[in-house]
Amino acid sequence: MKNFGLDIWGDNNFIIQNDTVNINHASKPSVLEITQEIREKGYKGPLLLRFPHLIEKQISTLFNTFEKAKEAFNYKGNFQAVFPLKVNQFPNFIHALMNVSKNYNYGLEAGSKAELIIAMTKTPLGAPITVNGFKDKEMISLCFIAAKMGHNITVTIEGLGELETIIQVNKEFNADIETPVSPKIGVRIRLHSSGIGIWAKSGGYSSKFGLTSTELLEAYEMLKKNTLLDHLWMIHFHIGSQMSDIAPLKKALREAGNIYAELKKRGAYALGAINIGGGLAVEYSQHEGKQERNYSLGEFANDVVYLMQEIAKSKGVAEPDIFTESGRYIAASHSVLVTPVLELFSQEYNAKALRLKKTNPPLIEELHDLYNSLSREHAREYLHDALDHMESLLTLFDLGYIDLEDRSNTEILVNLIIKKAISLLRDEGTDELKKLQDRIQEKYLVNFSAFQSLPDFWGLAQQFPIMPLDKLNIKPTNPASIWDITCDSDGEIGFNRDLPLYLHDIDVSKEEYFLGFFLTGAYQEVLGMKHNLFTHPTEAVIVFDTKGGYTIENLIEAQNLMDVLDDLEYDTNIMDKTLKYRIEESKHMSQEEKREVLGKLYLFLSENSYLKTIQAQNENEETQG
Ligand SMILES: *Cc1c(COP(=O)(O)O)cnc(C)c1O
Repeated sequence: MKNFGLDIWGDNNFIIQNDTVNINHASKPSVLEITQEIREKGYKGPLLLRFPHLIEKQISTLFNTFEKAKEAFNYKGNFQAVFPLKVNQFPNFIHALMNVSKNYNYGLEAGSKAELIIAMTKTPLGAPITVNGFKDKEMISLCFIAAKMGHNITVTIEGLGELETIIQVNKEFNADIETPVSPKIGVRIRLHSSGIGIWAKSGGYSSKFGLTSTELLEAYEMLKKNTLLDHLWMIHFHIGSQMSDIAPLKKALREAGNIYAELKKRGAYALGAINIGGGLAVEYSQHEGKQERNYSLGEFANDVVYLMQEIAKSKGVAEPDIFTESGRYIAASHSVLVTPVLELFSQEYNAKALRLKKTNPPLIEELHDLYNSLSREHAREYLHDALDHMESLLTLFDLGYIDLEDRSNTEILVNLIIKKAISLLRDEGTDELKKLQDRIQEKYLVNFSAFQSLPDFWGLAQQFPIMPLDKLNIKPTNPASIWDITCDSDGEIGFNRDLPLYLHDIDVSKEEYFLGFFLTGAYQEVLGMKHNLFTHPTEAVIVFDTKGGYTIENLIEAQNLMDVLDDLEYDTNIMDKTLKYRIEESKHMSQEEKREVLGKLYLFLSENSYLKTIQAQNENEETQG
């Protein structure tokens, strides 16, 4: 894996300069210097950095690519897009998104009442809002209120029951009104075809959503009877997220296009748009040959435009507007999670830890000799001898012939031999060597929670690109597994022989070492869990100015301990009083001590759950002393 696969997943957003990974934009600052600047303000623990210029890039690329495809085919319909709020509803993201998308008439998609309120307040009037998912009467009423405010809103019906509610709400809102206003109506269709991959439950016949052909015909009749046919304007489908292959999309497009044309010919004269949902995949892979998608955005746009045109032509109907709701594609690249490494764990396998005796069991003496005389020429042979000796020594221990110190020496020496042999034989990369890497992997304890910040790794085994922020001029040699600070064994990104990650050998008591997790901007934040009560990390928005410099804006610190408990509906006033009372009434401290302890306690309560790095502790000691 060269450069941590940056050329595979990086999309030119980052660049390695000297020994650091830098933002490939404006003055090209390193991620490390931005991190240091924030940490100097006193914010330790994990940091989520947001880059609005990367949101802008995704939006402009999406629109420009579709415009190009439209031009190439001389397509008459418009291209429009909305952002599905479920992908990331955090205000620092949404505000940046709306700010950078002003020139594109970009809108929002809502799937719940709370999301709809975000859409109604953050979408400029005229930009599209689409509303999907299951809706009750109140939610549909909210759509009518939005329409009456002047919003360009389309409510997608997912079933006939919803259509009945729309008809009812329409009567309540618009009876006896001189100029009735209602939202536009879309219908979600139930496809024969479905997506593939770990997320592919949204499309297909067994999907939760959508109308069958029989239901579509019935919906048409219902709309006609209730004089709402002039509002039916969109056909919608969504085949699932992170579409790895383009073939299912093409099938879905043919299905949806023909449904559009058929309904239009039947008399749905206002029908004018096909909404192809989301699903554009993001390349998360760090490894050659493990790519997650088989198409480019250009191919995707050309297919959509071409197929819609073909169907419109052959059925003699107007070319529909094309809507997309891609969310992952827009949001994923905008954030980087920066995490400090707290400790390396296999340091017990260090030559310094050997407890060799005056006379050692002969096999241990031999291991020692093998280690000292290991050379490239004999590496493989000595390695096999060492592994063989180890088996014998472990058996001797089980039978009571050698003691615990001997066993410890065995483990250390064999580990040292494997490490040395692997580094000598590195270019060979044989299966045997790859297997041995599992045995000598280094465990990096990292200041973050995988449950909070990478829930899709935990739940779906989704990989995210990981790389250190500096030392990139030095070849990393430690096969690495990453441990988060939750006390749950699932909070581990284990070393994977097929997707190996190597990190540097460092002494964290002497120097800081940070890992960046990339492409974390889609889904990870709101799906994150407060396992062990680790909360959303401290976040900041990095904004580049026209002169090339950057500013750190909208810094929001991770919640402090009492706020976390307050969120769980604990009565934190009572907790506060209890803590205070227990100190005041304690029989184990003097008055002066109590005052001091109380001061310390309140300092701790004002901080968040994440650990201070060893480095930070040293700094504190320095400033205090
Ligand atoms: C989730 C969802 C999307 C977004 O999908 P991405 O894979 O993030 O692009 C779009 N439309 C609907 C209806 C969805 O449910």
